[in-house]
Amino acid sequence: MNFLEERIVKDGVVKEGNVLKVDSFLNHQMDIKLLDQMGAEFKRRFADKPINKILTIEASGIGIACIAAQHFDVPVVFAKKSQSINLDGDMYVAEVESFTHKCINHVIVAQKFLSPEDHVLIIDDFLANGCALQGLIQIVQSSGATVEGIGIAIEKGFQSGGRIIRNLGFQLESLAIVDGMNAETGEIQFRDQSKPAEESGQTEEICRSSTLD
Ligand code: 5GP
Repeated sequence: MNFLEERIVKDGVVKEGNVLKVDSFLNHQMDIKLLDQMGAEFKRRFADKPINKILTIEASGIGIACIAAQHFDVPVVFAKKSQSINLDGDMYVAEVESFTHKCINHVIVAQKFLSPEDHVLIIDDFLANGCALQGLIQIVQSSGATVEGIGIAIEKGFQSGGRIIRNLGFQLESLAIVDGMNAETGEIQFRDQSKPAEESGQTEEICRSSTLD
């Protein structure tokens, strides 16, 4: 087990409905030394990429992205979420439909913070169905910038987001991939990432998203 998997086993709580709570160290109270280790690991995994900006989404991604940014020595842009917005032409807005919540969310980034010269690393805390991530990817692409990679703290490997994003050809690095968990026993199964990934042709989106600009 790596350092994050060990911490998930120690302090994570498995809830009913396939929800993993990590709020004592990652997305409510934050263990900064752990975040720093995660930042160093993201830097190691994306060492060969010409990253000049990190993009994340409010709120839980911000802390992780900021500590990681110190290892890359680059600025962080965080996308804002809003239910109702006034479009004024200065923003990239992705409309993301949450398949599970059956609602539309807007993911917004000011145009002045992303341009075609940018080489972007997207960072977030969780990857489940990947709806939020697909919104961020669309925003980067509509700005003309390049997605150099995606760094995730915890991927829920039994949901489809990771498979879809990898099949689209992105370098997606998840520090821990949970392949199963049991709310009764609290048991958590991690994917052995040293083994080659199983092939799957899935690229269809479980969440519908479109970009407005
Ligand atoms: P998505 O389906 O778009 O990949 O996930 C949506 C968001 O739901 C994630 O960014 C994360 O904030 C939250 N989320 C999904 N699954 C879990 C979970 O098991 N635990 C926690 N704490 N958040 C989750």
